[in-house]
Amino acid sequence: MLSIAFAIALVPTSYLLEGGLVFDGTGAPGRVMDVRIVGDRITEVGKLSPRVGETVFRCKGLVVAPGFIDSHSHADRGIPEEPLAESQVRQGITTAIVGQDGGGETPIRAMFERLRAARPAINFAAFAGHGVIRSKVMGDGFKRAATVDEIESMKQLLESDMRAGALGLSSGLEYDPGYYSTTEELIELCKVAAKYRGIYISHLRDEGNGAMSAIDELIRIAREAKIPAQISHIKLATASVWGKASDALRLIGAARREGLDITADVYPYTYWQSTITVLTLDRNWNDPAVWDRALAEVGGPRNVLLSRYSPDPTWEGMTIEELSGKIEKSPAETIIHIVRNTHGPAGFGTESIVCTAMREEDLRQFIHSPYVMFCSDGAIGGSHPRGAGAFPRFFARYVRQQGTITLQSAIHKATGMPARRFALKERGRISVGSFADVVVFDPETIQDKADTKNPREFSIGVKHVFVNGAPVLQSEKLTGHRPGRVLLRSTN
Ligand SMILES: [Zn+2]
Repeated sequence: MLSIAFAIALVPTSYLLEGGLVFDGTGAPGRVMDVRIVGDRITEVGKLSPRVGETVFRCKGLVVAPGFIDSHSHADRGIPEEPLAESQVRQGITTAIVGQDGGGETPIRAMFERLRAARPAINFAAFAGHGVIRSKVMGDGFKRAATVDEIESMKQLLESDMRAGALGLSSGLEYDPGYYSTTEELIELCKVAAKYRGIYISHLRDEGNGAMSAIDELIRIAREAKIPAQISHIKLATASVWGKASDALRLIGAARREGLDITADVYPYTYWQSTITVLTLDRNWNDPAVWDRALAEVGGPRNVLLSRYSPDPTWEGMTIEELSGKIEKSPAETIIHIVRNTHGPAGFGTESIVCTAMREEDLRQFIHSPYVMFCSDGAIGGSHPRGAGAFPRFFARYVRQQGTITLQSAIHKATGMPARRFALKERGRISVGSFADVVVFDPETIQDKADTKNPREFSIGVKHVFVNGAPVLQSEKLTGHRPGRVLLRSTN
């Protein structure tokens, strides 16, 4: 008896996804087929019959696609508290690429251990963060160019992070401490990442007035360090660059013709969320004229919504225009007050804003471009709706409603394209032998529900989600399975 029970336990669970419109993730159109999952892999694709004891998912009228790979995610932060990652799973996300904007942890091994210990429902892969490495080497004295010795120490930290499986180097050049780094520092570090066949991914130095020269800087880094590079959450976020998406894409196109491997990712909203200080690159935060200029550039104080403000949570959800009326100060003085309470010497509060500063037409051009893949830039429990809505929004708004791109192209930008970009082996494809990261959704009803008032509202229309062959969402219900893995940079 014992040996029979043992034999049964050894038979891996088998699932049949029957009769769905299957997109393989390469950008090819869908075909009605069946998909079999055994263990952690896709084992058969075609016309299949159910086996005895196999669980069958009827997928007629539904799309079957590789699980979505979120090219720029901050889901690592909330995962210990919410290992089921419901806001991601209900978007169809099966892998989150974290360690973005120069953040994360160094040594990256500690981050990998933390993620593994959380036993998450979804997979994670991570970049080594330039900012955390720079902080470790320079400490509080980061407001200057690094010395040759300091760059050497940073290179050693990066080298060990690359050995541990980092995908490459990320930077966040609008933030401390990345803001103070020279292009040469970044080139030197990128040479290390390139040696391990990593890539460089960057929140550019400027996403507003100076966006084009910031793109040029990334291209120069790619050229001189001989490294593939990706622009994070590409956007044009001040009035002087509105309508110039084609100029930005031309810069990328020209670099690609030169032989450089440049790509970008984008999230599907015309408003960004970050700290209030990124409204300006000027560091004279006590000067009202600085904020007057910054507000004019994003279309005025009504476009800036305070989404998080720990010194007084009752201020959350109000625009700078509304707050300015409430406290009877000018919009610029209102911001100075907020900054003093959160970033000043006496400031220990946290703040974040949602700023409507992009143009829909620019966003549509980025979504359409063959060089641009999809991301959420979202977090678990974040105050921007992208954390719960980004991927369904691409399919609802830009495929179904506006027809900006085809369904197969959108699926490619969410699956095969990032899998290739981040060298995630045997992921991002529906093909025999691939890991069974799979999403099943209804293309007619998939929809984001989160907005700035309810940023955590879950998306709808995603029916089933498999991660490494285990269902984490089944008939729109969380199963409680936590099969996610930490994916290391592939070395071949
Ligand atoms: Zn960023």
